[in-house]
Amino acid sequence: MLLVDLRAVATGPFETKAEIAIDDPILEGLELALQEPLRVEGRLTSSGPSQYYWQGSLATRLASACRRCLEPMTVDVDASVSALFTEEEGADDASTYVIQRDGTELDLGPMVREELALAAPKYVTCRDSCKGLCAHCGKDLNQGPCSCEPEPDPRWAVLRALRTDGPDTER
Ligand SMILES: [Zn+2]
Ligand SMILES: [Zn+2]
Repeated sequence: MLLVDLRAVATGPFETKAEIAIDDPILEGLELALQEPLRVEGRLTSSGPSQYYWQGSLATRLASACRRCLEPMTVDVDASVSALFTEEEGADDASTYVIQRDGTELDLGPMVREELALAAPKYVTCRDSCKGLCAHCGKDLNQGPCSCEPEPDPRWAVLRALRTDGPDTER
């Protein structure tokens, strides 16, 4: 369960083990295409006055697509997570979550959602050598060269210069 009774944590570490269904509301709006339930495993420990520490893992499989050739593919996610829960407002560090003051329950759901979003790779490629699609005709260049002119159309050169996915080392 992702809802932890904090009185149980007071007496010792609390083991978390849960399987979150693909259509669970806590995953809604993440725009991740889970192909398997999300497996959550870890332990919550008290780490000071009104402060808790969760360490564990999130694992699932996502449907995705190669960013270069757009071929559908699956991506395994297996992320180690360390999260701190504190009552201190304004704690905006990554992986720090503000909990309700003097609460008796701690909901791990929002943390799980956030950490899964962080762990999911944004850009995947089917293989390092993927040649991608031709910017002119859209042909998958992994299947062989296309018949486009080798001289790049100046309009595409402008678009390429605008791309922000890496330093432009060509000039
Ligand atoms: Zn590819
Ligand atoms: Zn082409």
